[in-house]
This record gives sequence, C-alpha cells and structure tokens, in this order.
Amino acid sequence: MRDAGKHDCLIEIRLDCLAADALKNLAPLRALLAACPQPTIITFRAAAEGGRCDADYETRLRFWRDEGLELPAKLVDLELDIAEQLNREAGSVDWSRVICSYHNHVEVPAELNQIFKRLAATPARALKVAVRANDAVDCLQIFDLLEQAKRAGREIIAIGMGAAGVATRILGPAHGAFLTYASLADRRATAAGQISIEELTSIYRVEKISSETVITGLVGRPVGHSISPQIHNAAFASSQTDAVYIPFEVRDLKAFFKQMVHPRTREIDWLLRGLSITAPHKTEVLAQLDWIDEAAREVGAVNTVVVEADRLCGYNTDAGAFIAPLKNRLGPLNDARVAIIGAGGAASAALYSLKTEDARATIFARDLHKAQQLADRWAIECRELEHAVFGEFDVVVNATPLGTSGELENETPARARQLRGARLAYELVYNPGVTQFLREAQAAGCETLGGLPMLLTQAAKQFQLWTGLTANSDVMQTAAIKALSNSNV
Ligand code: NDP
Repeated sequence: MRDAGKHDCLIEIRLDCLAADALKNLAPLRALLAACPQPTIITFRAAAEGGRCDADYETRLRFWRDEGLELPAKLVDLELDIAEQLNREAGSVDWSRVICSYHNHVEVPAELNQIFKRLAATPARALKVAVRANDAVDCLQIFDLLEQAKRAGREIIAIGMGAAGVATRILGPAHGAFLTYASLADRRATAAGQISIEELTSIYRVEKISSETVITGLVGRPVGHSISPQIHNAAFASSQTDAVYIPFEVRDLKAFFKQMVHPRTREIDWLLRGLSITAPHKTEVLAQLDWIDEAAREVGAVNTVVVEADRLCGYNTDAGAFIAPLKNRLGPLNDARVAIIGAGGAASAALYSLKTEDARATIFARDLHKAQQLADRWAIECRELEHAVFGEFDVVVNATPLGTSGELENETPARARQLRGARLAYELVYNPGVTQFLREAQAAGCETLGGLPMLLTQAAKQFQLWTGLTANSDVMQTAAIKALSNSNV
C-alpha cells in the first residue's frame, strides 16, 4: 500500500488472495479500502480464471450480491458469468463501477470474438480480456480487440499474458486500452509476463507512448533476461526521441515477420522502425529480408533489422562491435594471434571482423566436426578445446555461453593453467560483469576485457541505424550497469 502511494494509478485488490475467513467480516477490508492512497479495483477471481482460492461460482455470486458491490472501491471487476447473472437478475448494480472480465491462462481462444460479444452485451463500464499469448504474433488478436472495442464505442482492457504478450501491456493504452496492469515490484508480479510499474513508467515511459511513437524492439526466445530494453529506452529518453523498445518473444519467426513486421504484409498499423534479433533467430531471419549488408552476408547472421519504406534491411552490428573494444585496448591487430573458443554465431562475427583486420585466428571447439565448417569458411585452423593451452596467443576469446549468470555461472571454457602466457582474455558474456573465465585469466596474469563494451557498441550502432542520431554512450552504459545490478539482486 505504501509503495502504491508513490504512483499515479489505480490499485487492484485481489480478494481471492485473502485468507478464506477474511470475507466473513468485511470491516477490516472496508478500513483497508478507505485507507488506500489511490482509487481501487476489487476483484474475487475464480480459480478457473487464475484466482488463488477455490470459492465456487455460488459463493462468489452470493458475495457480490450480498455485500461485495457495496464495498467502497472505485471499480469492481466481475467475471463474465457473474456479470451476466447479475444483469439477468435486474438488481441494483451500479454498472458504471463494473469491469466485466474474461481470463484465459492457456491461450488466445479461437472463440475470442464471441467472448467479446458476450462481454459487450453487459452494461459494464469497461470490458477486460486477459488471455495467454504463447507467441508474440498472438498480440495481433489482442490489438484487434482494442480496435473492435473502439468501433463499438466500448472501453476495454485487452492484455496478452506471458512473456510473449508484453507488447500489449506497453502499447495497450496507446491503442486505446482503458488501462494497463503492472505489479508494484517484479517479485510480486501477479500474472505471467506482468512487468513492474517502475519498469512500465521509467523504462518504457508508457504515458508518453502514442500512435506517433516509433516502435523498435528485440526479437528472440527467450527475451526476458535481456538488458537491451533498458539500454535502448534510456537512449531514446535522453535524446528525446519519441520511440520505444519492446521485447518480443517470438516462436514462429516467419509468421511474426509476415503479420507484424513486413510493411507490405503486416496486419497492424504501427510505426515499426527496427528490430534487434537475438538467439535463436539470427540466421533464420535472413530469409525474411529484402536487403542484407556485407557483414551480415559474410557472417551468415543478422542481429539488426531496419524498416526502410516498404523494405526490410538486415545488418550485423556484432562484427564491428566485437573488434572495436579490442582495437581500443590493443591497437592495430594485424598478425595478432587470436584464439576463439566456440564456433557459433558470435564466433562467426568475430572471425569476420578479425579477417578484416588481418589478425590470425584459430578456433577451439568441443565438437571439431561442427567447428570445421566454420574454420574451412575462413581458411583457418580448428583445434580440440579439451586440454588446449593458450600461451602462444595474444588474445583468447570466450565465444561460448559458459559463465553466463544462472546455471552456467560457475563454468569456464579455460582454466588459469591453460591461459598462462596469453596476453589478453576477452569475454563475450556480459552478465555477470566478471565471469569465471575472467577470474581464471586474472589468476593467470592476463589482461582482461569483459563483454559489456561489445554489447554497448552494437547497441549504439543499432540506435544510429534506426534514428540517424549518435547514441549517448554514457547514458547507455549507466542504464546497462543499473540493469545488470538489478538482475543480480
Ligand atoms: P551460439 O549458441 O551460436 O554458439 C555457442 C557456441 O558455444 C557453440 O559453438 C557451442 O558449441 C559452444 N558451447 C556451448 N556450450 C559449450 C561447452 N559447455 N563447452 C564448449 N563449447 C560450448 O551462441 P552465440 O555464438 O550467439 O553466443 C555465444 C556467447 O556470446 C553467448 O554467451 C552470448 O551471450 C555472447 N554474445 C555476446 C555479445 C555481446 O554483445 N557481448 C554478442 C553476441 C553474443 P556446440 O556447437 O558444440 O554446441
């Protein structure tokens, strides 16, 4: 309650989260509602719609009929079946206080339009549809619903639950939603994919988003761990650019590009300007584009898409971003001996940029057969990672995910004894800031370089491609460091 007082918002109080006997005597609840610093919405969610208690339909109906509707809340959220029944009874319901709602925690149901019609047949002040988005493209149906309600002259809240539905929470109000939902803090998120009010207001600046706002975002799966929204949105805010950067959790890349991205085929009216592309879509995305830059073609991966009139252009900003921090540290790299551990997309981008610098690269991989293809492409040597020693190299790069926060955090592709004699250890993992690989390198007496400069360099290039402006790198770095420290608490 104290936290809620800091924000200009309505507060939803979930009666189904209270202890079972709390509704026997409503005096404390009345006092709580009266003391609430903000106007409230009360709801008594059915278990079938995600409620946290097992009160059956009859119990909930009796509660609303007897006392619930008299509670001093600004709005009451009634499920569709309860609202329909109360409407049939023609009792004294103040419908100007009612939100009539439908929730589905599994999917966007095929009968969404019929459900909307039933909701719209009630005299409720506002309608609410909260359905599970399992793929970002599911958001289309939710945005459609907002349009449908607008045409019908009805207020509606339409939300895609789950990580794939985050766009509907951020863009909903700009598409005419009556309101959007956020949790008071991350750890207290009440619905899957719900973001905190702090994120919604200070990172996504939801109050400033309108139909004129330029849309950018991150396409991948998963995307929830990414700090790119913090980095790009901070850069937009500091340059006073009317743009927002949104995470899109995408399974079916082809459908997403066809229905939501490509200007010639998309089914949504929005000012989409560009996208970052991350795992697992960096290669698959090539087939969706009209033009691809040389680095992306050579690397075989695109991490940046720019919408140019009715065309989609693909770039690889990882390649340049890999090399810039390295050259800043070591100067010219011609003839530098560089060991790349790993043979995936980041290794490929690194090899392309090392080639352009005339450095001498060697790949180290656990699966020589797979890595050989990459080595052949760049005409370089490929060695077994197990038992490798790196003393002959100027630079040793970790281009594997080993060391990434979470399950892999304590792992490293090389120990101190293997790294001894190498000049610099370059870690591409950026979260955490100091990985086990970097600790081993320090113990071996190597210089170290972390993955954050690469991340920030590629983000700055994306920002420039989308806006034509130079990114404020200090702002991006501050936002990234803050996001990393928040993600590690
Ligand atoms: P990919 O999945 O394309 O490639 C990962 C590579 O690591 C594969 O060659 C894989 O081998 C290898 N690997 C995975 N696990 C192990 C292991 N236990 N032992 C040895 N090798 C292993 O990922 P990316 O190349 O896209 O990314 C690699 C890392 O670089 C990630 O952590 C990513 O976050 C980071 N990165 C950082 C960027 C930045 O801006 N700082 C930009 C891009 C990436 P196999 O093929 O045998 O599975």
